[in-house]
Amino acid sequence: MELFELTIHELHERLKKREISSVEVTKDCLDRIAATEPQVNAYITVTRDAALSAAETADKRLAAGDADILTGIPVALKDIFLTKGIRSTCGSKILADFIPPYDATSWLRLKERGAVLVGKLNQDEFAMGSSNETSVFGPTRNPWNTDCIPGGSSGGSAAAVAARSAAATLGTDTGGSIRQPASHCGCVGLKPTYGRVSRYGVIAYASSLDQVGPLTRDVTDCAIMLGAVAGYDPLDSTSVDRPVPDYRAGLTGDVSGLKIGLPKEYYIEGLDPDVKRSLDAAIETYRGLGAEFVEISLPHTDYAVAAYYLIATAEASSNLARYEGVRFGHRTAEAGGLMEMMSKSRDEGFGQEVKRRIMLGTYALSSGYYDAYYLKAQKVRTLIMQDFLKAFETVDTILTPVAPTPAFKVGEKTSDPLQMYLSDIFTIPVNLAGTCGISVPAGLSGDGLPVGLQLIGKPFGEETILRAAHAFEQATTWHQRKAAL
Ligand code: GLN
Repeated sequence: MELFELTIHELHERLKKREISSVEVTKDCLDRIAATEPQVNAYITVTRDAALSAAETADKRLAAGDADILTGIPVALKDIFLTKGIRSTCGSKILADFIPPYDATSWLRLKERGAVLVGKLNQDEFAMGSSNETSVFGPTRNPWNTDCIPGGSSGGSAAAVAARSAAATLGTDTGGSIRQPASHCGCVGLKPTYGRVSRYGVIAYASSLDQVGPLTRDVTDCAIMLGAVAGYDPLDSTSVDRPVPDYRAGLTGDVSGLKIGLPKEYYIEGLDPDVKRSLDAAIETYRGLGAEFVEISLPHTDYAVAAYYLIATAEASSNLARYEGVRFGHRTAEAGGLMEMMSKSRDEGFGQEVKRRIMLGTYALSSGYYDAYYLKAQKVRTLIMQDFLKAFETVDTILTPVAPTPAFKVGEKTSDPLQMYLSDIFTIPVNLAGTCGISVPAGLSGDGLPVGLQLIGKPFGEETILRAAHAFEQATTWHQRKAAL
C-alpha cells in the first residue's frame, strides 16, 4: 500500500521500526497534495520546506528512541488555527496576509509530539457555512465526487483526509463544522465537550459554542488525536481542568448492554432514504453487538436552529468587531478619515455571508430587541441542554443522523441561506448543549456518496462515544471505502 494510504497508527508502527522515515512519509504526502489539489482545493497554504525540516527533526527523535505516536506524522490544520510564522487566513480576505506571532495551543501540543505540519486548510470564511463555499480561496470539492461540496465549515479538513493528502487534520465545530463534513467525506470527526480542548489561538466565531476536534481516517486515529490535544490550558479560561483519559485504551470493542437512545424528533418523515437506510442498518449492527435501544425525546429540537442563529451571530458580531484595519488584517487603500477607513476596510475585507451574520447578530443584541431575541434564545438553549441531560439519565449515548442528506452539489444552496442553515439541524443541538458528538462512516448513498452516523455523548463522555464508534467500525467496512480520487 502507498504511504499516503496509511493511518496514524499504521504509519507509527513502521516509523518506530525504522522501516520508513518521516522524510519519506512527508515527501509522499506532499506529492499526494500536488496530485490531488487541482481537483480538491483543500489547502490554502502548503508548508513544504517547514514540513521537510520538521520531518528531519522527527527522524532524529525516532532514531533516538524518543518518539511519540505522532512523531513524524504529516498533519494539516484548518486555517482558523494560528500557526506562528505561517499565514492563517480563516478563509477571509480580511486576514489573507495575516502571519500570527504565536501558535494555537492545540497545534503546539501536536508539534511538541513531533507531528509534521504539511499545510493549512480551506474553510468557510470565519467558519460560517456548511459547504466550504464562502471561502475567499474558492470552494473545496468533495473527493468522492468533485461536483459536490465537502461540507463545512471544516471542508478542507475533511476533504484532505478523504483525499489522503494528510494523515489527519484538526477542525473546529460551532454548529456541526467537524461532524457534517466528516459525514460528507466518509471520515471520522469528533466535536469534544465544551472545555475539553483549548481554543487559545483559534480564531473565534461564537465563543460559547466553538470547539476544536480531529478529523481522521478511523476511530483509533481519532482517539489518538483527541488525547493529544485535550486537557487544561492556563491560556484558555474556558478549558476544563480534568484528567484526559487514555482514549485509545478505551476502545475495547465491547458495547454489550450499552443503552443507545433514538430521539423521536430526529427520525422525521422526509429524512433522505439513503440516510435512513444507513441508520436502520447501523441500528441492526449495534443490536447484533448486544447494545440496547430506547426511544427518547428531545422535545425542544425544533427550536435549535433558530436559537443557534441568534446566539452564534450575536457572538460573531462582537468577536469580529476586532477586524477594523488598524491592528492587523486588511486595510483599505482609500479612505478619508478614521471611521471611513474602518468601515471601508471591513466592507472590502468581509464576504457576503459574514456581513449577513454580523448584521443579524448586531440586530439581535440591539437595545429594544435584546430581550426578545438574544435573551429568549439563551432560555431556549437552557431547555435544549436540559433535554439532553434528562435523556442521559436513561441512556449512555444517542444515535442520530449527522446531516439530513448526503453531500449536495456545489452551488445548490448558495442562493438560499435558510436551506443551508437547515443542513445543521442534527448537529447544532449538541453545540447548544455543550456536549460531545462523533460522526462515523455508516454507508454510501445510491450515488456513491458517504453517509455518516452521529453518536452523541454525555458531557465529557468522549470515551463512551469513541468506544461505541470503534465497535461499529470493527463490525463494518465503511471506513475502508475510499474516494476514487
Ligand atoms: N454551518 C453552521 C454555521 O454556519 C456551523 C458552522 C460551524 O460549526 N463552524 O454557523
